[in-house]
Amino acid sequence: MRKTVLALAALLLASPAWPNTLILNVNGIEVGDNGKIHRFNMLEFDETTGRVIQTIGPSADGRSQPIDILSTYTIDGHGKTLLPGLIDAHGHVMELGTDALHLDLVGTRSLAELQQRLRDYAAAHPDARWIQGAGWNQELWPTKQFPTAADLDAIVPDRPVVLERVDGHALVANSAAMRAAGVTARTPAPTGGEIIDGLFVDNAKALINRAIPPPTQAEMDQAFAKAQEILLGFGVTGVGSMSTSLDDWKTFRRAGDAGSLKVRLMVYLLGLDPLKAIPHPTPWLYGDRLRAQGVKFFADGALGSRGAWLKQPYSDAPNTTGNQLHSDADLRSQEDAAAAAGFQIATHAIGDAANAQVISTYEWLDSKYGLNRRWRIEHAQVVDCADLPRIGRAQIIASMQPTHQTSDRLMAEKRLGLSRLKCAYAWQSMLRTGAKLAFGTDFPVESPNPFPGLAAAISRQDINDEPPGGWFPEERLSFEQALHAYTRGAAYAGFAEEKIGALEPGKWADFVIVDRDISKVSVPDLYRTQVLETWVAGKKVWSRTPAASATERGK
Ligand SMILES: [Zn+2]
Repeated sequence: MRKTVLALAALLLASPAWPNTLILNVNGIEVGDNGKIHRFNMLEFDETTGRVIQTIGPSADGRSQPIDILSTYTIDGHGKTLLPGLIDAHGHVMELGTDALHLDLVGTRSLAELQQRLRDYAAAHPDARWIQGAGWNQELWPTKQFPTAADLDAIVPDRPVVLERVDGHALVANSAAMRAAGVTARTPAPTGGEIIDGLFVDNAKALINRAIPPPTQAEMDQAFAKAQEILLGFGVTGVGSMSTSLDDWKTFRRAGDAGSLKVRLMVYLLGLDPLKAIPHPTPWLYGDRLRAQGVKFFADGALGSRGAWLKQPYSDAPNTTGNQLHSDADLRSQEDAAAAAGFQIATHAIGDAANAQVISTYEWLDSKYGLNRRWRIEHAQVVDCADLPRIGRAQIIASMQPTHQTSDRLMAEKRLGLSRLKCAYAWQSMLRTGAKLAFGTDFPVESPNPFPGLAAAISRQDINDEPPGGWFPEERLSFEQALHAYTRGAAYAGFAEEKIGALEPGKWADFVIVDRDISKVSVPDLYRTQVLETWVAGKKVWSRTPAASATERGK
């Protein structure tokens, strides 16, 4: 008898009594497979498998199967808005984590404040072999004078310190860093660079940067953990992990082996080099959380530094058309090698000449491999209107970043002039050609927060409602088009549409709960959306603490 009671008690304690979980009373919003908004007020998923059973409501007719109340654990959603986990089609995961672990100097108002932050950081990180930081801007300081090696030596004399300017075009190093790099006051600056009292400008930066030791395994693990925490805090449960190195891949694998891989990563390796170790796409690993499936190439640079390759010279620099990084034949042969190994191809193209080159390359690849390989153009920022229909015809995926449009607007007008902007950041035109649209942020270039991206996509306005009426407003998207590009579209771009991007039966129960109805709020309010909880495979992996809210308000 006693034995039976104990056995029964053990059974009750050991196994979860309810295999199914039902979240009731939510304002559920997703994009249905017809492209229209699908609303629901209950989500049922299998706790054990982590997969969706069904969404229900608002009317009972939407029910596909009865709920077994006895085997269902219920949670009250308190009317909060529930969305599928957001998917960022293009981000740099390790850079996000690494940047976040470095000293943040954005917003320092004086040299003394920079020194104070450096002192605090050095004390908090006694094990950091090099202290790296970024974000200072002497233009915001009363003296407007560049910091010097001596300014840093006064705070940290014994360890190398390297602090980048906010634009990345200059860094200041202390004496220990210069010693480690073998640089002295007499070292001549390379062409295109300058060295002044520990300040290294443009091409001179490499003299210091090459001495920084590569991160250790432990540092990479720490950076990846930090990146996951940041992404989950913004409701991002899946990422197209761009420009992934072999060391990055190994870091993801270590997290998978340790059971700490939470965000789903669709991995695009950086060029052909990593294919020596990963010759073919891998299967999905760790419960569909990791897959090497693509190779990333670059056709040009970026618009800000006039590296984007244009058909006609820059409006504000008539002597240049930017940087072409490959001949047609070279790009074709490299991408052919990756395609032949079974990989998906993703090519960075910003300028109209680069986009035309990539479209031609993909048309050629289509003739060899067929139309179903989902070749991707990353950014597709400035396209010649004459080339736009070719993107749809070749069924190319346009992997675009709405917040680039709001950040770049004024710079793009200077670089290109208004006439060339007609088919720039052209989301609606892109969709009209039949191209598939996938959205992301290119973090850490922009914040990985997807809600400003949704807000920019539907408004072509920044958080301050600028410019009035929106920039080239004909390229605005509807709310459902924008949410589609951030969920189903991004999943499709990563060959994952059977698994994620919508809360349909059998797909992963990856979802987020947010603090407002994003389908109804104003554009500035949509920008400010906050995630309350993030769930992956039916497990809560992140929830907002009062402290997190306070820090964000302070920013
Ligand atoms: Zn990128």
